[in-house]
Order: sequence, then C-alpha cells, then structure tokens
Amino acid sequence: MTRRFDVVDAPPASLDDKPRDECGVVAISGIEKAAELAFLGLYALQHRGQEAAGMVAVDGDGNARVHKGLGLVADVFDADTIRKLRGDAALGHVRYSTAGGGGARNAQPIVVRYSEGDLAVAHNGNLTNAHDLRQWLVREGAIFQGTNDSEVVVHLVARSRHESIDLQIDDALTHLEGAFSMVLSVGQTLYAVRDRRGFRPLVLGRKEGGIVVASETCALDILGAEYIRDIEPGEVLKIEGSKMTRLRPLPPAPQPSPCIFELVYFARPDSRLWGVSVDRARRAFGRRLALEHPVPADCVIAVPDSANSAALGYAEAGEIPYELGLLRNHYVGRTFLKPSQADRDFGARMKYNPVREVLDGKRVVVVDDSLVRGTTSRSLVKFMKEAGAAEVHLRIASPPVKSPCFYGIDMPSREELIGSSLSVPEIADQLGVDSLGYLSLEGMEAAVAEAGPFCNACFSGEYPAPLIDVEKGFAPGNVGAPC
Ligand code: AMP
Repeated sequence: MTRRFDVVDAPPASLDDKPRDECGVVAISGIEKAAELAFLGLYALQHRGQEAAGMVAVDGDGNARVHKGLGLVADVFDADTIRKLRGDAALGHVRYSTAGGGGARNAQPIVVRYSEGDLAVAHNGNLTNAHDLRQWLVREGAIFQGTNDSEVVVHLVARSRHESIDLQIDDALTHLEGAFSMVLSVGQTLYAVRDRRGFRPLVLGRKEGGIVVASETCALDILGAEYIRDIEPGEVLKIEGSKMTRLRPLPPAPQPSPCIFELVYFARPDSRLWGVSVDRARRAFGRRLALEHPVPADCVIAVPDSANSAALGYAEAGEIPYELGLLRNHYVGRTFLKPSQADRDFGARMKYNPVREVLDGKRVVVVDDSLVRGTTSRSLVKFMKEAGAAEVHLRIASPPVKSPCFYGIDMPSREELIGSSLSVPEIADQLGVDSLGYLSLEGMEAAVAEAGPFCNACFSGEYPAPLIDVEKGFAPGNVGAPC
C-alpha cells in the first residue's frame, strides 16, 4: 500500500529488539519517474539487505509518498506501487535480515512531516551513540515508532532551532557518532552524507542531467549512470535537481576508516569501492593467501559466491586448477544467523551441494572469504568428505574475525565468533579440516594499500570511532544496534 509519509504500522518499540544494520541506500534527483530508477538501484543493492525494502518519492509540490514492506525489492514493489510514487526525486533503502528483532517498523526510509515539509531519511551504517541520543530525546518528549537509529536523525533535524534546513541538518549531524552513509530529503531537496571516517561506501553518479547517489557502483551500472566520484568522508552534499552544493563538512577525523570487510565479503564484486575494484581486491587477497599458506593440492574450489574471486586468486598464484566443486542454490536467502541453530547441516545443505565428480579422491583447497561462527565451514567440510575428497585444506581470505562490528556489519557477539577464543589449530580441529590457513592482517591490508587505511576492528579489536552506547553499558545484545 502506498501512503503519504507512512510509517509502517507496528507494535510499540522495545529497546530489546535487535534490528540489524547492514543496508543499502539509493537516491535519485532531477530525473523523471525517479522511483523507477530507485527501484532498479535497490534491485542491484539487494545483496546489502533482504529483510525489507522501501522507497519515498517526492513530487513537484514537495509531497512525499512512501511505500515499504518486508521482503525482497521485487516482492515489495510492483508496477502499480511504483507508478504511484510520483516525482523527480526519490530515496530508497534495503535492509538486511534480522535474527528476531526489528521487522516492518524498522523498514526505511523513515518519513515524517515537520515544520519545513516532508522529511525522509535512509541510512546505512550504525550509530554508536543511538541509544544515548534516543534516551535524551525521549526525556525531551520525543515519541519513537520503531527501534531504528534513523528515527533519531529525524528527531534531531525536526527539533533543531536553526532557521534554515541546511543548518538544521548540519546541527543534527554533529550529534551523530559512528557509521552513517545517509541520504535525506526535505521536499524535493536531497542531502547525501558520509560520516567523517567514511565507514560505509556512498558513491555519486550522473544520468541524463540528474544525480544518482548509491551505496555501490553496481547500482549506477544498472541505471546506466556515469560514476562521478565517491562522497567523501565527512562530506555533506545538497542536491537540488541536478545542482549540487557542498555544505560545511563534518569535523575531520584523524584518518578515514573505510570498512575492509566490505571488500572481504559484503560488497558486490562488480562494484568499485574507495577506488579499487572489489573483484580485484578479492583476487589479490587470494593470491596473498596462496603465498602465505601454500599446500600441494589437485584443485582449488570456492565457497560460492562470496569467495569466488579470492579462490581464483589462490588458484592463479598457487598454480592449482580452479574447479567448481560446490554449487550454491541462488533461490535460498543467506543462512547466516538463522533463528534456529539446531540443525546446522540442514541450513548449509539447503544452500550448498558438493559436486562428487570434482571432489572424489582429490586433495582439495577450499577458499572462503571469512570465518564467522564456523558453522557453515564445518558442514561444508563434512559434505566434501562425504563426496569423496581425500584431503580438505581450508583457506580463509581474511584474518580471524575476533571482535563484533559496531559500525554496520551484522556479526554475532564475541563469544559466538569462532576466531575470538580458539587458536588456528583448535579451529582446524573443530572444523575437521586437514589444514587451515588465514590471510594475515598485514597481507590483507598490503593487498589493497591504495584504498587504505581501513577500519579493521572485526579483525584487530581496534575501534576507530568511540563506542558510546557500549561504554555506557547498554545491554550487549543491543549495543551497536540502532535503538
Ligand atoms: P560462519 O558459518 O558463521 O563461519 O559463516 C561464514 C560465512 O558467512 C562465510 O562464507 C561468509 O561468506 C559469510 N558471512 C560473513 N560475514 C557475514 C555477515 N555479516 N552476514 C552474512 N554472512 C556473512
């Protein structure tokens, strides 16, 4: 159903919900039927979020219409809903699946009417002081619909005492800490913002005299838009039709900290992030991995699809034939963080199947992009051995994940991260592999040195932006999550 500044009906918010924070955003300005383009952009960004999708379009009178719901982009929107989203400006959002919290009330964009018109926000990233800000706003009388940190932003803009909208937005942004690549609209004027450390990507493109902003360049490609540049860390860009103005930037950080895990796993390999091709970065990781952890083997296979590029790199540098030894069912959603962890093999079996003819009697190097809980790998090793593999050598194209991400990658708690408490030989033993090798942090960063320095907190435990909510003792299940 398409409604004006609709906030999806939902039960009252609870701070115990744990909405996830991996997302993709798109914004279109100065192009007729902007919603059609935003839809396509979201379609290309589907990998960044499969739980919910939403879009707001703004017509020439400044009226915002919003449609959002649970599910994939193609399920949430149809021709009719998109036709009703009239106007030359649009914002869109996809949200990652949750383990149990969030739901429809956290679908974005958030749209409200305030003194200056219809205000919409779509946000990728995770504020590290959202809980703190929210408590303060609630004490001031603010009423929240969901458990989503973008709502905090909306309230901060609406409550600002500054006279101009630009200054209200500037005022709101100065309160935010943590990760935010964000697009906002007030009437038909759009704003694109990246936090001062630039944790999450946000790129700028041009099409038919209009402007496109998106989380990844693959969204520009589907629209036939030309890539102009990345929105810079701390940049606040105002977009009116096809006119762009840089507003006062956010105070600079000592150094930018783009998320290296975007290159490892999250972004699409056909995107370019921070000046490097994701595919090339992953191949470089794979090549380094082969040099750091060589092993005699008959074939190299990938855990598809996120490790395909890294496995190709390993095969090339290790001079071992690349084979397609595991098939992935593309019609199953990601199985990471299923509500029930009881039948772990079943989850992996739903998604992957070994190719016996490739594996039987072979010494196999299997490359994965990352090990999080280790549950997928444990099942896959078992499947490969059942399919006849003589040896299984697991190679991980990133270092051990030891610390949770508070900046917008969905990770389990520290206790659940297999790399946080076990040594490499212990992990190898648990997974039942013949050998295990992780890419070193130095090797990984050196492979993409031109795009760094990075945030590598999930590997190093060094958090570049203050974890205000964590430090104030909000419950671990909820920390880092938009509250
Ligand atoms: P696990 O079984 O928990 O070790 O999951 C590892 C697999 O999950 C790897 O193959 C990754 O491709 C994938 N993965 C890594 N990080 C994430 C994430 N944040 N969300 C979903 N999947 C992930």
